[in-house]
Amino acid sequence: MKQYPEAVWKKLEEIELAMEEGNNLLFELDKLIPQEPIKTGVDIYKGFFIDTFACPKCGRAIGDDMIIFPHCPACGKAIKK
Ligand SMILES: [Zn+2]
Repeated sequence: MKQYPEAVWKKLEEIELAMEEGNNLLFELDKLIPQEPIKTGVDIYKGFFIDTFACPKCGRAIGDDMIIFPHCPACGKAIKK
């Protein structure tokens, strides 16, 4: 394995800490985003009007009145209806 100067190791350590902090911030941010899906429109299913929904975080379509993903398949956000 290649040996880095100590200054490089120090910087790597700083980066690691910053990333950890960043992850915590993202986690906090995620909690601020509501879990309720966003109503995007109306669909017709067997003659009935049903609402269609999108992920509150990334906006991907995640289902409708009949069936809805418990987690967004794109970003993993937990969805509660
Ligand atoms: Zn999403």
